[in-house]
This record gives sequence, structure tokens and C-alpha cells, in this order.
Amino acid sequence: MFPPPFTEPLPPGSTIGIVGGGQLGRMAALAAARLGYRVHVFTPETDSPTSQVCAARTVADYTDAAAIEAFADSVDVVTFEFENVPAESVRLMTEHAPVRPCWRVLETAQDRIAEKTFFNDIGIATAPWRPVRSAADLTRAVGELGRPAVLKTARLGYDGKGQVKITAETDLDEAWAAMGSEAGILEGFIDFDGEISVIVARGLDGAWATFDPVWNVHRNHILDTTIAPAPIARELAAEAMAVAHKAAEALGLVGLLAVELFVTKDGGVLVNEMAPRPHNSGHWTMDACLTDQFEQFIRAVCGLPLGSPERHSDAEMKNLIGDDAKAWLDILHDPAARLHLYGKAEARPGRKMGHVTHLRPRRDRR
Ligand code: AMP
Repeated sequence: MFPPPFTEPLPPGSTIGIVGGGQLGRMAALAAARLGYRVHVFTPETDSPTSQVCAARTVADYTDAAAIEAFADSVDVVTFEFENVPAESVRLMTEHAPVRPCWRVLETAQDRIAEKTFFNDIGIATAPWRPVRSAADLTRAVGELGRPAVLKTARLGYDGKGQVKITAETDLDEAWAAMGSEAGILEGFIDFDGEISVIVARGLDGAWATFDPVWNVHRNHILDTTIAPAPIARELAAEAMAVAHKAAEALGLVGLLAVELFVTKDGGVLVNEMAPRPHNSGHWTMDACLTDQFEQFIRAVCGLPLGSPERHSDAEMKNLIGDDAKAWLDILHDPAARLHLYGKAEARPGRKMGHVTHLRPRRDRR
């Protein structure tokens, strides 16, 4: 019933199924096309950023079993660009096609309780945290971790959604109600120096390659700017890369893993979260590395040798959020700017419409 996992490289001309139709799928599909692959996207949206650049589309709900099976039957390998696809739907696809990364990786990354437990079990430090499943749990957890703290939904939270900061004044019953979900975690508030992230690729043969750690600045909980490389000590960069690699190994990952970390005041790192897919903080690699994150993703998923992640330039990537994208013509007038737009018709506030990258000659030679 299960197709044998292919261990040979998937030849150009094959079809890659991508679940999720956002900008990450779009940029992955463009990288796939450059290597001669066809992409079939599965998305509930009719005119998604990915659909616009794909050979084939399935427009269906993520829980439509018949559509899921037909989709997986029609492709040579499946991957995902969106994390909130039900893990069970991705598991169902494994009965019809190889799925990379494994659906279990998705399941771990989708739930903050499972994710934090995973990191701590392999000896990787996170902010102190407690699972919270009721207002009484929250009261107990705040008693243990103190204030300030952050209450986060266990599932379906991203870009700061489903988060409540617990300060000295916060009423805990109200905070529990405001989070609006059945399960969450309480995290001790980290008064960090900054936030960094690392993306590691791991191939079918266990080979791996990490991009340089980058420094991320958020605005309204949404990534605003990424600076590559992160202006941090060499040892800290090496530690962050080692953390990402250790996690990818422990997951048996085939694909990409992005790990977000806090840099603490005492010069250490604590993992915040992970995403088993291309990541917004890796967009700079499209213009500044020998192999970018999207090509690396396609290489890993297709069982190809990984490319060199070497950074040939330093870079600053800025997201174009909502109306920011209206400046597209000005950006194109700037000879140093590399513009990427995602084909989204409507510029809603908070919506990622594109990004722009500025390059500078590389200053260090690590
Ligand atoms: P998250 O959805 O977990 O990535 O959180 C979104 C943003 O909220 C992070 O990028 C941080 O800027 C901030 N944040 C999350 N958790 C904490 C924490 N434990 N302490 C301080 N700031 C946090």
C-alpha cells in the first residue's frame, strides 16, 4: 500500500507536490522550475501566490480526503510550505507518495507543547515554560514562573497571534479567556538582546548544510528586517548552527528546518520555535548565497545533493507588509535593491506582499 521510499535522486521532469499556496510555495516552485521540475500545488485558495507559477493546481480543503489522495497519486514527492495543514492529511498522503519532511515532524512543530518538549528532551534550552490547559493551570504556572510572562496558544499561533503578555496588572482569568484556545503554554518573559534564526537543510543521505545565522527585527510581532549575517560572536553563531543541526538530526528531517532563537543578555541562546520549511528570515539567501533556501529545499526533498550555502554578500532583507508594497516603483529605481513580489492582489494590513533585499560586499571570511 505504501509506495517504497525512493532513494535515488528524483530526475528533472518529475512533479513535486507542494501543500500550501503562499509565497513560500511560490518561491519554492520557481526554484523547482529552474531545476526542470514541475510543481502541483494543493491549496484551498483559487488564485494563490503559488498557483500563479505552477504547472497544476488542486483547489480543495485541507481535510478533503478524496482530493488529498488524488493529489498525492498524481505527484512524485510531496512537501509542504504551510504549517497549519492538518498533520493527519499529510499522513494520508504518505500512503500515496513519499512525503518530505515526514508528517510527524509537522505534528511536532504544530504544537508548542510537543515542540518545547522535543527541544528540552534533546538537551536544547528554551525559555522556561509550563503547559496550560485551564485558568487554574495558568494561575499555578504564573506562580511558578513569575511575571512578566507570555501566554501562547499551543496550536495555530503565528506572528504573535494568540499571545497574551502577563504583566503585574494582568487578570489571569481574563488572559486565559483572551487567548481563546483549549491549550497553551506559559513562557517566562525573556529580556533578550535580540532574535536570531538559523536555517539548516538535511538531505536524504543525511548530508546537511546551514546558512549563516541572521538577526531578525520584528514590528507588531511580524518579521520586519533580517540582517545577514547576524552581528554576533563567532562562537554564538556556531552554537546556533549546532542547535539547528542537532534538532534536524533528531527529527530525521529531510528538507529545511528554520530555528528561531533569543540571544540572552548573558550571551547565550534559547530556542523560541522551529518551522520545518523555508522561512521568511531566509529570503535574503535568494540574492546573497550560492544556493538559496528554496533551491536547497527542492534539492533535499528530491534527494539531490545539497548546494553550497555560502554567503557571497552581506544582505539586509525588509518585508513589504500591506501598503509598503505600493513603493514598488521607487524600489525598482534603486539600483542596489532586489525586489520580490508575491502576486497578492489585496494589500491587507499585516499581509506579507513581498520583500526587498539590499546587498553589500561581504566583510568577513568565516
Ligand atoms: P512567537 O510567535 O513565539 O514567535 O513570538 C512572537 C514574538 O514575540 C517573538 O519573535 C518575540 O519577539 C516575542 N516573544 C515570544 N516569546 C517571548 C518570550 N518568552 N519572551 C520575550 N518575548 C517573546
